[in-house]
Amino acid sequence: MEKLSLIVDMDEVMADPITKLRAWYARDFGKTYTDEEIAGKHLAEVVPPAHAHLFHQYLNTPGFFRDLAVMKDAVEVMKCLHEKYHLFVVSAAMEFPNSLKDKYDWLQEHFPFIGWQQICLCGSKQIVSADIMIDDHSRNFHNGIRRKILFTSHHNVFEQAEERVNNWKEVAQKLLG
Ligand SMILES: [Mg+2]
Repeated sequence: MEKLSLIVDMDEVMADPITKLRAWYARDFGKTYTDEEIAGKHLAEVVPPAHAHLFHQYLNTPGFFRDLAVMKDAVEVMKCLHEKYHLFVVSAAMEFPNSLKDKYDWLQEHFPFIGWQQICLCGSKQIVSADIMIDDHSRNFHNGIRRKILFTSHHNVFEQAEERVNNWKEVAQKLLG
């Protein structure tokens, strides 16, 4: 049978930038935001308005994306998805141009079974289509995506989703069953 195509997002799905963003903010301003404080919101909406621009600065700092924590169980499940699907990692990395090499090196380190042909560091994700997409931003779910799976992250917890997964174990249940 023809393999289905599957697009997987990096940030807040494979990688955890939120823990590091919170740590950098705490380093600079002495305040650590709790899960409750950031539920349903983007970090820039939670901090004082004068600090809202900082996150863009943090995210575009060379090296920021290089040592992000890998989401729990992501490696094991991605290995199996790689066998079963036409798997592509798609990240709107152009928003932070300095992230490009870091993201590639990070993938090579943690997901060495993913070849360069399967990696798409792009601008808008409107350009890509697939049978299935896993992403934490529903804005990336357009008509070219048949099955849209929202990966839970702090900012989307109150959002309605056609389909939602809370972690990689649930991804495995849905797509490897
Ligand atoms: Mg994301």
